[in-house]
Amino acid sequence: MSDSWKPSTQAVHAGTRRSQYGEVSEAIFLTQGFVYDSAEHAEQRFISSGDDEFIYARYGNPTVKMFEERIAALEGAEDAFATASGMAAVSGALTSMLKAGDHVVSARALFGSCLYVLEDILMRFGVEVTFVDGTNLDEWEAAIREDTRAVFFESISNPTLEVIDIEAVCKLAHAKGALVLIDNVFATPVYSRAFEQGADVVIYSATKHIDGQGRTLGGVILGSREFIRKTVEPYLKHTGGAMSPFTAWVMLKGLETMRLRVQAQTASALGVATALQGHKALAQNIFPGLASHPQNALVQRQMGAGGTVLAIDLKGGKDAAFTFLNAVRIGLISNNLGDAKTIMTHPATTTHQRLSQQQRDLLGITDGLVRISIGLEDEADLIEDFLQALDAVN
Ligand SMILES: *Cc1c(COP(=O)(O)O)cnc(C)c1O
Repeated sequence: MSDSWKPSTQAVHAGTRRSQYGEVSEAIFLTQGFVYDSAEHAEQRFISSGDDEFIYARYGNPTVKMFEERIAALEGAEDAFATASGMAAVSGALTSMLKAGDHVVSARALFGSCLYVLEDILMRFGVEVTFVDGTNLDEWEAAIREDTRAVFFESISNPTLEVIDIEAVCKLAHAKGALVLIDNVFATPVYSRAFEQGADVVIYSATKHIDGQGRTLGGVILGSREFIRKTVEPYLKHTGGAMSPFTAWVMLKGLETMRLRVQAQTASALGVATALQGHKALAQNIFPGLASHPQNALVQRQMGAGGTVLAIDLKGGKDAAFTFLNAVRIGLISNNLGDAKTIMTHPATTTHQRLSQQQRDLLGITDGLVRISIGLEDEADLIEDFLQALDAVN
């Protein structure tokens, strides 16, 4: 294993642990426990375990370890902890490091469950949270205080695809000694350079592009060895958000093909977004990779590509959005993203239904907004399908 290997090489080799059988494909160690040679050996393991010694799958497991080491190598992180879902990763990263009285600054535009963790759970346990418009650096600067412990945001927000300047926010946070935690799902590990750009902790819902085929739920927290082993691990191993070894195996195999999938999906997303430009049924056509996106320059600098998700806002509101969704033949109406299958979501009535009208207005989640995660289907087929569905609206 070499640190100088390029991502495509790391993605298929990093973290591999071979058993005595010399298997080519990674083994699934579906075991929650491990046998000790003697009572003395058991005692010793509970004092300190070596790199290849495991105690209990809630603490660690060889297949899970392979996934953690592979994604850490890809992301350029010292260490990683795999979790049962993306939300176990988000909540685990935040609650493991925070205590009552701490102050957190977060972007307002968040995935619904992330908002619940910050606004309901953390606040209930006495953590003060200030929400800002993530695209406005003046608001970040004004909100981050000397006693701010953590700064949290999604590098590209769901579902309106606003892009947050990682480098600039990290500078503001670090000037006050705050740790920066980024939910980096929409950037994907393929386009992420978040650690280079200053992030302290990067979080993924592995359910999305890492699995990429809609099979399993998972998450991962990446950061310094100190943060992962001293802060995250004790919290997660005792509170139970561990990833299952079977899931870790699916995710490991997912990492092998992730780059090819995400690059192809990103190219198609750009093709689709370009083809929909100017359609008369649309009030807005939002894709970070389009030159018309207000933050395209930042996207190109930060990620070098627009990602796999676009959002369209239909002039005719909910009726038009529903007509469009029902007229599409290839894209599925569901709520995952990063999948091999193109998936369309109407946030106002599904993922963001819980929010008040006022909150949705503030976040730009209009009744006409449809989020589209582009899959691996033929780009020309998708374009033809979306255009006929848009025409059906008029
Ligand atoms: C999906 C998602 C999550 C939650 O991930 P799960 O694996 O569903 O728990 C968190 N943040 C973002 C940005 C997401 O898209």
